[in-house]
Formats: sequence, structure tokens, C-alpha cells
Amino acid sequence: MTFIPAYQPPTPIPQQAHWFVFQDKKLLVCVSENSAEIPLVSPSETEWGASLRYPHYLGTLDGQPCYVGEVGSAAVAPEGMEFRGLRSLFGLLPEVWFALSGTAIQVLTWDQDHKFCGRCAHRMNLKTEERAKLCPECGLTSYPRISPAIIVAIVRDGEILLARAPRFPEHMYSVIAGFVEIGESLEECVHREVKEEVGVDVTDVHYFGSQPWPFPHSIMIGFTAKYAGGDIVCQEDEIADAQWFTPHNLPYIPGKISIARKLIDWFLQQQS
Ligand SMILES: [Zn+2]
Repeated sequence: MTFIPAYQPPTPIPQQAHWFVFQDKKLLVCVSENSAEIPLVSPSETEWGASLRYPHYLGTLDGQPCYVGEVGSAAVAPEGMEFRGLRSLFGLLPEVWFALSGTAIQVLTWDQDHKFCGRCAHRMNLKTEERAKLCPECGLTSYPRISPAIIVAIVRDGEILLARAPRFPEHMYSVIAGFVEIGESLEECVHREVKEEVGVDVTDVHYFGSQPWPFPHSIMIGFTAKYAGGDIVCQEDEIADAQWFTPHNLPYIPGKISIARKLIDWFLQQQS
């Protein structure tokens, strides 16, 4: 399946389109036992169409136009559909659709959270030639916010370092992650975050892969690294516990939705 992003909706307005309709961050889907679909509808013919706001054109998926919008909390899901949290749709929605749902909610959230110019407080206008807003008063252009964060698998002699943050689900451990600061390279961020959170030094930092993470607007940039020295010292308030684990004594780890899990799976493959 091929998604082609675009900003200018087609004219004439298509009879039907795939609509990513959110209500309180939950997505309207047609759900059956093992799969979910994004409805192909004409909003004017739906009950929720009247309360639709923040509509944005996203582009086409295999030639079908795709839009995002939000409905108020009073809107009721039509028969056979329901509003579901994005994470719960992983594995139910086809991968391309799941990724596009993440794009959709970020476009929506960006529009809602950036109505006014940060410089002069005038109401911003959407630009037509790119995904951006322009202040008609002072000319400031504002782009959707994307917050880069590193995530790193630290290994030594058949073990991987996993840590538990207090906000994690009970008993869950994962790899180290943290937001990139202004003026910092990704590699510098890896060294700093690891040192801050678990007190150890790393070396041989290598790029692994990346994953957009729309909760709410991150991109996770994955690395692998080798342990270089130091004892584990957990950062107060940020890390509840951190330990070295072998493939045979792994704790409860994140689900397959995340790059964290892909990094841990990479470690397991290395050991097998
Ligand atoms: Zn302005």
C-alpha cells in the first residue's frame, strides 16, 4: 500500500473518503474480532458529521483520499463502530493504517495546540503549500512540533541493561530513553541520558533504526551501545530500578508495537 502525503484537498470534494475521526484522542473504527478498519464515508451523511471540527486533508492511500477531524464528546459512534485508543489498535489495524492514524492525530493535535502566534498572539492561518501555519500579522511560520528522543540497548557479555521508570506498567522493564536537548547530537544524547539515568558509561554507539511515536509527538531514534564502565546508579524520581538481564531471566518487557521491543529482540537474536 502506498501513502502519498498532501495538504491541498482534491477538488471537487470526493464523494467518499477515509476519515480518521477522533473523540478525546480515541479513533473511530469499524471493529470485528481480529481486525479494524478506518471508515470510508461522506461526513455529511453521518450523525457525527455535523460536529466535525479541525478537518485536515492528509493525502491518498492507494488513491483513496484520507482526512482527519475531531468530533465533540457528545457524538455517538454509529452502529458497528467504536472509538478506541490508538495503542489498542496495534495489530488490529493493518500496519500502514496504524502508522497513518499516528500521523492523523499529530496533525489534529498540532492544529488544536497552535491556534495563535507564539510571537504576537494573532490567530494563525494554515498555509496551503505545506503543513505549516503562517501569522498574517508578523509573518512567523510555525511547523508541526516533532520531539526527537533517543532509545538505546546497552549490552555487555550476554546481558542487556533494562530499567524501570515509576510511570511504567507494573513490573515492566525497558531500554533507556530520553529527549534530545537543544544543541546536542544524537550520540551525545545517548551518552548523557545513559549516564544520568543509570550512571554507566557506554561506547560503540551505533544507529539501529527509528520510529515515529505519536504519544504525543515524538520520533524515537534507536541505538545499540556497549557497556564501557561504571556501576548502576539509578536517577532519583526517574528510574525505580535497573538491572542486567540475560535472555533467560528477562523481566516483563514492552509489546511489539515499540522500537524498545525491537531493540530487545535484536539483543535476543544476537545471543541465540
Ligand atoms: Zn505573529
